[in-house]
Amino acid sequence: MMRKKRILRRVIFLSMMIIIMIVCTKKLHKADFSEHVEEDYQEVAENLVVEKEPKEINDWRLTLVNYENVLPENYEMELVNIDKIRKIDARVFDELHQMLEHMKQDGITNVWVQSAYRSVERQEDLFERKIKEYMEQGNTREQAEILALQAINKPGTSEHNLGLAVDFNYVKGDFDTTKGFAWLMEHAQEYGFVLRYGKEKEAITKVEYEPWHWRYVGKEHAVKMNELGMCLEEYVQYLRQQS
Ligand SMILES: [Zn+2]
Repeated sequence: MMRKKRILRRVIFLSMMIIIMIVCTKKLHKADFSEHVEEDYQEVAENLVVEKEPKEINDWRLTLVNYENVLPENYEMELVNIDKIRKIDARVFDELHQMLEHMKQDGITNVWVQSAYRSVERQEDLFERKIKEYMEQGNTREQAEILALQAINKPGTSEHNLGLAVDFNYVKGDFDTTKGFAWLMEHAQEYGFVLRYGKEKEAITKVEYEPWHWRYVGKEHAVKMNELGMCLEEYVQYLRQQS
Protein backbone atom coordinates (compact mmCIF):
# COMPACT_ATOMS: atom_id res chain seq x y z
CA MET A 1 0.00 0.00 0.00
CA MET A 2 2.77 2.38 1.04
CA ARG A 3 4.71 1.55 -2.13
CA LYS A 4 1.73 2.28 -4.34
CA LYS A 5 1.24 5.64 -2.70
CA ARG A 6 4.90 6.48 -3.17
CA ILE A 7 4.77 5.56 -6.84
CA LEU A 8 1.60 7.58 -7.29
CA ARG A 9 3.22 10.57 -5.63
CA ARG A 10 6.23 10.26 -7.92
CA VAL A 11 4.01 10.04 -10.98
CA ILE A 12 2.09 13.13 -9.91
CA PHE A 13 5.29 15.00 -9.20
CA LEU A 14 6.83 14.09 -12.56
CA SER A 15 3.69 15.02 -14.50
CA MET A 16 3.60 18.38 -12.79
CA MET A 17 7.22 19.00 -13.69
CA ILE A 18 6.52 18.10 -17.31
CA ILE A 19 3.51 20.44 -17.43
CA ILE A 20 5.55 23.29 -15.92
CA MET A 21 8.32 22.72 -18.46
CA ILE A 22 5.89 22.75 -21.38
CA VAL A 23 4.25 25.97 -20.20
CA CYS A 24 7.62 27.64 -19.69
CA THR A 25 8.93 26.74 -23.16
CA LYS A 26 5.77 28.06 -24.77
CA LYS A 27 6.10 31.35 -22.90
CA LEU A 28 9.72 31.69 -23.94
CA HIS A 29 8.78 31.08 -27.56
CA LYS A 30 6.13 33.73 -27.31
CA ALA A 31 8.53 36.26 -25.81
CA ASP A 32 11.05 35.47 -28.50
CA PHE A 33 8.46 35.90 -31.21
CA SER A 34 7.08 39.20 -29.94
CA GLU A 35 10.61 40.55 -29.60
CA HIS A 36 11.23 39.83 -33.27
CA VAL A 37 7.98 41.47 -34.23
CA GLU A 38 8.94 44.52 -32.20
CA GLU A 39 12.33 44.62 -33.87
CA ASP A 40 10.76 44.50 -37.30
CA TYR A 41 8.41 47.31 -36.44
CA GLN A 42 11.30 49.35 -35.09
CA GLU A 43 13.25 48.80 -38.28
CA VAL A 44 10.34 50.01 -40.40
CA ALA A 45 9.83 53.00 -38.10
CA GLU A 46 13.51 53.89 -38.26
CA ASN A 47 13.50 53.78 -42.04
CA LEU A 48 10.52 56.07 -42.14
CA VAL A 49 12.18 58.55 -39.78
CA VAL A 50 15.40 58.55 -41.79
CA GLU A 51 13.46 59.42 -44.92
CA LYS A 52 11.76 62.33 -43.24
CA GLU A 53 14.81 63.63 -41.36
CA PRO A 54 16.83 66.44 -42.96
CA LYS A 55 19.89 65.24 -44.81
CA GLU A 56 23.44 65.58 -43.53
CA ILE A 57 25.55 68.25 -45.16
CA ASN A 58 28.64 66.75 -46.66
CA ASP A 59 30.93 69.74 -47.01
CA TRP A 60 34.12 70.05 -44.94
CA ARG A 61 33.83 73.84 -45.05
CA LEU A 62 30.60 73.72 -43.09
CA THR A 63 31.77 71.38 -40.32
CA LEU A 64 29.95 72.50 -37.23
CA VAL A 65 32.01 72.51 -34.07
CA ASN A 66 30.31 74.01 -31.06
CA TYR A 67 29.03 73.29 -27.55
CA GLU A 68 27.05 70.31 -28.78
CA ASN A 69 29.15 69.18 -31.73
CA VAL A 70 32.54 67.94 -30.61
CA LEU A 71 35.27 67.57 -33.21
CA PRO A 72 35.32 63.92 -34.34
CA GLU A 73 38.31 62.14 -32.77
CA ASN A 74 39.53 60.84 -36.10
CA TYR A 75 39.25 64.24 -37.79
CA GLU A 76 42.27 64.78 -39.96
CA MET A 77 43.52 67.84 -41.70
CA GLU A 78 46.63 68.96 -43.47
CA LEU A 79 48.09 72.01 -41.82
CA VAL A 80 50.33 74.69 -43.28
CA ASN A 81 52.18 77.49 -41.57
CA ILE A 82 50.86 81.02 -41.82
CA ASP A 83 54.06 82.23 -40.16
CA LYS A 84 56.72 80.69 -37.94
CA ILE A 85 54.27 79.64 -35.23
CA ARG A 86 50.74 79.70 -36.54
CA LYS A 87 49.12 77.04 -38.65
CA ILE A 88 45.86 76.67 -40.54
CA ASP A 89 44.10 74.08 -42.68
CA ALA A 90 46.02 73.94 -45.96
CA ARG A 91 42.82 74.27 -48.01
CA VAL A 92 42.17 77.73 -46.54
CA PHE A 93 45.65 79.18 -46.76
CA ASP A 94 45.46 80.76 -50.21
CA GLU A 95 42.25 82.63 -49.57
CA LEU A 96 43.40 83.82 -46.15
CA HIS A 97 46.64 85.05 -47.66
CA GLN A 98 44.86 86.82 -50.53
CA MET A 99 42.44 88.43 -48.12
CA LEU A 100 45.21 89.85 -45.97
CA GLU A 101 47.03 91.09 -49.08
CA HIS A 102 43.90 92.77 -50.40
CA MET A 103 43.45 94.45 -47.03
CA LYS A 104 47.00 95.81 -47.17
CA GLN A 105 46.42 97.12 -50.68
CA ASP A 106 43.43 98.97 -49.30
CA GLY A 107 45.71 100.67 -46.79
CA ILE A 108 44.97 98.54 -43.72
CA THR A 109 48.32 97.34 -42.49
CA ASN A 110 47.63 96.78 -38.81
CA VAL A 111 45.64 93.54 -38.94
CA TRP A 112 47.39 90.28 -38.14
CA VAL A 113 46.44 86.72 -37.30
CA GLN A 114 46.91 86.26 -33.58
CA SER A 115 45.61 82.74 -33.30
CA ALA A 116 44.65 80.08 -35.83
CA TYR A 117 44.82 76.29 -35.49
CA ARG A 118 45.06 74.95 -31.97
CA SER A 119 45.39 71.25 -31.21
CA VAL A 120 42.88 69.58 -28.90
CA GLU A 121 45.81 68.81 -26.56
CA ARG A 122 46.71 72.47 -26.40
CA GLN A 123 43.07 73.27 -25.75
CA GLU A 124 43.10 70.72 -22.92
CA ASP A 125 46.17 72.42 -21.47
CA LEU A 126 44.52 75.83 -21.60
CA PHE A 127 41.35 74.44 -20.09
CA GLU A 128 43.17 72.65 -17.28
CA ARG A 129 45.25 75.74 -16.53
CA LYS A 130 42.10 77.85 -16.29
CA ILE A 131 40.50 75.33 -13.91
CA LYS A 132 43.59 75.45 -11.66
CA GLU A 133 43.49 79.23 -11.71
CA TYR A 134 39.89 79.21 -10.43
CA MET A 135 40.67 76.51 -7.86
CA GLU A 136 43.50 78.60 -6.50
CA GLN A 137 40.94 81.34 -5.96
CA GLY A 138 39.13 79.01 -3.57
CA ASN A 139 36.64 77.26 -5.85
CA THR A 140 35.96 73.54 -5.81
CA ARG A 141 36.96 71.58 -8.89
CA GLU A 142 33.31 71.51 -9.97
CA GLN A 143 32.84 75.27 -9.59
CA ALA A 144 36.17 75.90 -11.29
CA GLU A 145 35.13 73.79 -14.30
CA ILE A 146 31.91 75.77 -14.70
CA LEU A 147 33.83 79.04 -14.54
CA ALA A 148 36.50 77.79 -16.95
CA LEU A 149 33.83 76.79 -19.44
CA GLN A 150 32.64 80.38 -19.55
CA ALA A 151 36.10 81.57 -20.51
CA ILE A 152 37.41 78.76 -22.69
CA ASN A 153 35.79 76.31 -25.05
CA LYS A 154 35.80 72.73 -23.89
CA PRO A 155 38.56 70.81 -25.71
CA GLY A 156 37.26 69.58 -29.06
CA THR A 157 34.47 72.15 -29.23
CA SER A 158 36.60 75.08 -30.37
CA GLU A 159 36.70 76.07 -34.02
CA HIS A 160 40.41 76.54 -33.58
CA ASN A 161 40.68 72.76 -33.16
CA LEU A 162 39.14 72.51 -36.61
CA GLY A 163 41.81 74.65 -38.27
CA LEU A 164 39.25 76.76 -40.13
CA ALA A 165 39.16 79.82 -37.86
CA VAL A 166 41.38 82.79 -37.20
CA ASP A 167 41.49 85.38 -34.43
CA PHE A 168 42.71 88.83 -35.41
CA ASN A 169 44.87 91.26 -33.45
CA TYR A 170 44.53 91.47 -29.68
CA VAL A 171 41.45 89.23 -29.46
CA LYS A 172 39.57 92.11 -27.89
CA GLY A 173 36.03 93.39 -28.10
CA ASP A 174 37.06 96.79 -29.42
CA PHE A 175 38.36 95.19 -32.61
CA ASP A 176 34.95 96.07 -34.04
CA THR A 177 35.83 99.77 -33.85
CA THR A 178 38.79 99.35 -36.20
CA LYS A 179 39.05 99.96 -39.93
CA GLY A 180 40.20 96.38 -40.29
CA PHE A 181 36.92 95.11 -38.88
CA ALA A 182 34.88 97.36 -41.16
CA TRP A 183 36.90 96.05 -44.09
CA LEU A 184 36.31 92.45 -43.08
CA MET A 185 32.59 93.05 -42.72
CA GLU A 186 32.58 94.22 -46.32
CA HIS A 187 35.11 91.94 -48.00
CA ALA A 188 35.76 88.79 -45.93
CA GLN A 189 32.96 86.95 -47.69
CA GLU A 190 34.79 87.31 -51.00
CA TYR A 191 37.47 85.08 -49.49
CA GLY A 192 35.06 82.70 -47.81
CA PHE A 193 35.24 84.08 -44.27
CA VAL A 194 32.36 85.04 -41.99
CA LEU A 195 32.07 86.63 -38.58
CA ARG A 196 31.33 83.51 -36.59
CA TYR A 197 29.92 84.78 -33.29
CA GLY A 198 27.73 87.78 -34.01
CA LYS A 199 26.20 89.97 -31.34
CA GLU A 200 22.64 89.03 -32.30
CA LYS A 201 23.43 85.32 -32.46
CA GLU A 202 24.64 84.73 -28.92
CA ALA A 203 21.49 82.79 -27.98
CA ILE A 204 22.10 80.37 -30.86
CA THR A 205 25.88 80.05 -30.86
CA LYS A 206 26.10 80.06 -27.03
CA VAL A 207 29.26 82.09 -27.47
CA GLU A 208 29.61 85.72 -26.56
CA TYR A 209 30.10 88.20 -29.39
CA GLU A 210 33.63 87.83 -30.77
CA PRO A 211 34.43 90.47 -33.40
CA TRP A 212 37.97 89.07 -33.76
CA HIS A 213 36.98 85.48 -34.62
CA TRP A 214 36.45 84.70 -38.33
CA ARG A 215 35.56 81.36 -39.77
CA TYR A 216 36.20 79.96 -43.23
CA VAL A 217 33.12 78.49 -44.95
CA GLY A 218 33.97 79.10 -48.60
CA LYS A 219 32.91 82.03 -50.76
CA GLU A 220 29.49 80.88 -51.95
CA HIS A 221 28.43 79.91 -48.43
CA ALA A 222 29.80 83.10 -46.89
CA VAL A 223 27.89 85.25 -49.37
CA LYS A 224 24.71 83.26 -48.86
CA MET A 225 25.01 83.33 -45.06
CA ASN A 226 25.39 87.11 -45.05
CA GLU A 227 22.53 87.49 -47.48
CA LEU A 228 20.28 85.40 -45.26
CA GLY A 229 21.67 86.94 -42.07
CA MET A 230 22.36 83.50 -40.65
CA CYS A 231 25.06 82.19 -38.37
CA LEU A 232 26.58 78.78 -39.13
CA GLU A 233 24.19 76.87 -36.87
CA GLU A 234 21.20 78.41 -38.64
CA TYR A 235 22.71 78.03 -42.08
CA VAL A 236 23.52 74.33 -41.69
CA GLN A 237 19.98 73.76 -40.45
CA TYR A 238 18.65 75.72 -43.40
CA LEU A 239 20.63 73.67 -45.92
CA ARG A 240 19.50 70.41 -44.33
CA GLN A 241 15.91 71.42 -44.78
CA GLN A 242 16.51 72.52 -48.36
CA SER A 243 18.09 69.29 -49.51
ZN1 LIG B 1 38.78 82.44 -31.92
